[in-house]
Amino acid sequence: MMRKQILEKAYDPKLVEEKWSKFWLEEKLFAPQGPSSAKKFSMVLPPPNVTGSLHMGHALCFTLPDIITRWRRMQGFNTLWLPGTDHASIAVHNVIEQKLAEKGLTREKVGREEFLRIARDWKEKYGGVIINQLKKLGASLDWTRERFTLDEGYAKAVKHVFVELYKEGLIYRDYYLVNRCPHCGTVLSDIEIEHKERQAKLYYIKYPLLDSEENIVVATTRPETMLGDTAVAIHPDDNRYNKLLGQKILLPLVNRVIPVIADERVEREFGTGVVKVTPAHDPVDFELGRQHDLEQVIVIDGSGRMTEDAGEEFNGLDRFECREKIILRLKEEGLLEKIEDYQHAVGHCYRCQTIIEPHLSWQWFVKIAPLAKEAIKVVEEGKIEFIPSNWAKTYFEWMYNIHDWCISRQLWWGHRIPAWYCQNCEQVVVAMEAPSQCDGCQSTNFIQDEDVLDTWFSSALWPFVTMGWPEETEDLKTFYPTDLMATGFDIIFFWVARMIMMGLKFTGDIPFRHVFINGLVRDFKRRKMSKSEGNIVDPLEMIDKYGTDALRFTLAVLAIPGMDISLSEERMAGYRAFANKIWNASRFALMNLEDDMQEIKEEELTLADRWIRSRLVKIIQELDGALVQYKFYEAADKIYHFIWHEFCDWYIELVKPSLREGNKTSMAVLLDTLDQILKLLHPFMPFITEEIWQHLPTAGKSLVVASFPQTDEGVKDEKAEAEMKLLQDAIVEVRTIRAENRIPPKEKIDLWMKVSAGKEREMIQKHEVYFQTLANIRQIDIRDDFPKKKRLLKGISGSWEVAIPLEGDFGLEQEKQRLEREISKITLDIKKIESRLENENFLKKAPKAVIQEAKTRLRKLQNRKVKLEQSLEHTLSLI
Ligand SMILES: [Zn+2]
Ligand SMILES: [Zn+2]
Repeated sequence: MMRKQILEKAYDPKLVEEKWSKFWLEEKLFAPQGPSSAKKFSMVLPPPNVTGSLHMGHALCFTLPDIITRWRRMQGFNTLWLPGTDHASIAVHNVIEQKLAEKGLTREKVGREEFLRIARDWKEKYGGVIINQLKKLGASLDWTRERFTLDEGYAKAVKHVFVELYKEGLIYRDYYLVNRCPHCGTVLSDIEIEHKERQAKLYYIKYPLLDSEENIVVATTRPETMLGDTAVAIHPDDNRYNKLLGQKILLPLVNRVIPVIADERVEREFGTGVVKVTPAHDPVDFELGRQHDLEQVIVIDGSGRMTEDAGEEFNGLDRFECREKIILRLKEEGLLEKIEDYQHAVGHCYRCQTIIEPHLSWQWFVKIAPLAKEAIKVVEEGKIEFIPSNWAKTYFEWMYNIHDWCISRQLWWGHRIPAWYCQNCEQVVVAMEAPSQCDGCQSTNFIQDEDVLDTWFSSALWPFVTMGWPEETEDLKTFYPTDLMATGFDIIFFWVARMIMMGLKFTGDIPFRHVFINGLVRDFKRRKMSKSEGNIVDPLEMIDKYGTDALRFTLAVLAIPGMDISLSEERMAGYRAFANKIWNASRFALMNLEDDMQEIKEEELTLADRWIRSRLVKIIQELDGALVQYKFYEAADKIYHFIWHEFCDWYIELVKPSLREGNKTSMAVLLDTLDQILKLLHPFMPFITEEIWQHLPTAGKSLVVASFPQTDEGVKDEKAEAEMKLLQDAIVEVRTIRAENRIPPKEKIDLWMKVSAGKEREMIQKHEVYFQTLANIRQIDIRDDFPKKKRLLKGISGSWEVAIPLEGDFGLEQEKQRLEREISKITLDIKKIESRLENENFLKKAPKAVIQEAKTRLRKLQNRKVKLEQSLEHTLSLI
């Protein structure tokens, strides 16, 4: 039984998108459709932060993999794309602590338990925003498997990993100098710090020698840290200062007696060559201090305030206030020799841009070298492939210089470190559960570590924990390792590398085979989108204006591997028009199909039928070929041109005469082509294609699970394509002549043609109807020669000549003036381009594509000018 329904007159994305989103989810069509014996395709979604809301970066990062997922699913792969969200410790803290601050509260005031309750409530209420937006984008994620990096099973897996690594000695605790953001109140890893050049000052301070009238001068950018100095250091080979060795210094303002030491790490060129040593507040000094057994005096606390050990005078001051006060005091004492301008790189918090403070404290670390070794190997051996491949270089650079990873964070929202400290003895217990009794002293008084794990520690486990690890689940067996990880270049280190390390360590296998690195989405002038520039394009606003399909298609077309995306609203409006074009063509087709569709009969196929079928086979092959290589732009471009410029512009017109004659085979070809086009386009534009397809007699349950078109080599027809090309070129030429001479489209005209080969003559006669339909020709007169004195509008198409004979009342004088006007205009245009192409500056700076475009345009204009001049000559000969 066939369903034949007429489409609504106009396409309304809102209604259609809402309807199908709901349907797909209710029917659970995004869940793996099995059978498990089929080839599988799997991915995990890079979990967006629960605090997140959709921006263009997301839209890109979700659209491209969705194209691949939908395509593979339709190809019959047992497909899983697994979604979830990340608990994002720091981001959630920022949100909640800001709310608390509005009420004059801090997290310390409300306490850990209450804070976590507030955070959980907040997550329940607002954490789903990004999820709903994802559903709007049509991302075909299996929501029945949704995970959260803090859910119960996940928490267990994280603990398991921590305990295992600890047992193997790959996690350790150390009293260490770490980078701390005083504003965010937590430790940051090396890669979470942005180094920025700053104009600063270099202060030269006199340090008096003990038992002597002499001073030595040290230079520092951070005079406030002098309160924590426990030595002064020189280079052992520095003859200027050899005599100082063994002497003591009386530290000014503090009156602590400190030694002079020698160490090869001292830079003789810096300042005076004598440096102060503050083991508790500088990474180099920390190492020096360890080597020389120096005391670590903490004078700045984790929030950037001076401690009691800084002395009564400075206790409680902010670190920068203290700097001012120190300078003042040194001046008073006559100990400040000079101040110089000094430019150097200073570390800033990547989240809040506060200057980092090196901070001495107990932290947990992952010993990274053994894990990195394996992770380097799998990329070197090509088991994991980066796309574009140059990102592998970035990956290696980082992996070869990797440091141990500080994984403890002084936050509450997150995975609390499963370590307990006996309050009676020194015992530390790392375990899945709180210990009941101390092995060492039998005490039951334990306190759990206050810190939580770096968020990246839990997300590093994402590809396998989401599938049920450490249980041996069916999902792990079927879908792990995954096939593709699509993400941004900015988290190759934070995330991709760590997933590879953890995946190899705990599953013995790579977590994914391909890593596709997205470009950045920029504005239409290629500027970075930012709030301060006011050039942010909001994907939800674009969806509202142009529909999701148009947004998705725009992102796909612009996704050239290795290039940033320059987004313009114009493009989106263009693809909205594309949606209309498809809609209208489909509406026409549906209105012209009869109820009793029949099979395609070989002998009834017209030239146009054979041509479109052959073209379609090639497009399917090209599309598959492009998608296998993640060439989204190429796939989208191909399908776009096929639908618009071959199917809509030509085939729909060429098939009209057959439809009028009631050729049932042509009807079947039209239906079949439309059916396949919708399937090809579905991964890019899921909504409109589903809506139209559901109106076709060939419709099934849903395009989501329909079969992707397969190619039949037997349908390829080079002869039909070649013949069609000749006819199309001639038709285009006639249309151009008509347009150039302002012959109204409605006016029927005669056409003369000069063709040498007899076969071609026959072919034209056989397909005269195409000229009639597409160029509004009354009849074609094929002649051996065109008479000289006849007034003709002439043109050339390959080896054929075409001419439109002019009727008696056609105004020759007007025609002459028009041609002259056009020629002078085109001459001007040509000059403009020529002078551009002669400009060396332009040639040097402009992208190759732009230069090429200018050259092509110049050639076209020149050709056209020649034709116009010929026409003018001909017109003049008739006057
Ligand atoms: Zn910060
Ligand atoms: Zn104990």
